[in-house]
Amino acid sequence: MLRVGEGYDIHRLESGRRLVLAGVEVSSRRGAVGHSDGDAVAHAVCDALLGAMAAGDIGTHFPDTDERWKGADSMAFLAEARRLLAGRGGRVVNVDVTLVLEEPRIGAFRERMRARLAGVLDCARDRVSIKAKTAERLGAVGRGEAVEARAVVLVELPED
Ligand code: MG
Repeated sequence: MLRVGEGYDIHRLESGRRLVLAGVEVSSRRGAVGHSDGDAVAHAVCDALLGAMAAGDIGTHFPDTDERWKGADSMAFLAEARRLLAGRGGRVVNVDVTLVLEEPRIGAFRERMRARLAGVLDCARDRVSIKAKTAERLGAVGRGEAVEARAVVLVELPED
């Protein structure tokens, strides 16, 4: 059975913080504010994966009130969601991400992000797509105050 999941995330950006996207640290004037490392791509893909399994969301699995997740590497959340999928006999078919960020340009980091996601999701890199765009200077993302990520994941699971 094929099942689709969708995920969305947004993080505030502030100077003096790290910007981590899909587990890759991107050189940037501003970084993400978050309880964990604020990796919007990892969070969106994790929610998409949980959504495909109808297994709740990232907040139910890794609550930001839990000290264990303070400053956490968000790729560990994704690894946990993927373990849940494997436990149900499932696998990732493909992932498509749209990153909305005014700056910096992430083209130079794209292949490393794809490789990190493919590694954690245990699928081939050509099954992982990362698209990036700006918000045309509109709204909070356009003013460089936030980073947004959207993700769609298709998974294959055994019939119930
Ligand atoms: Mg988040």
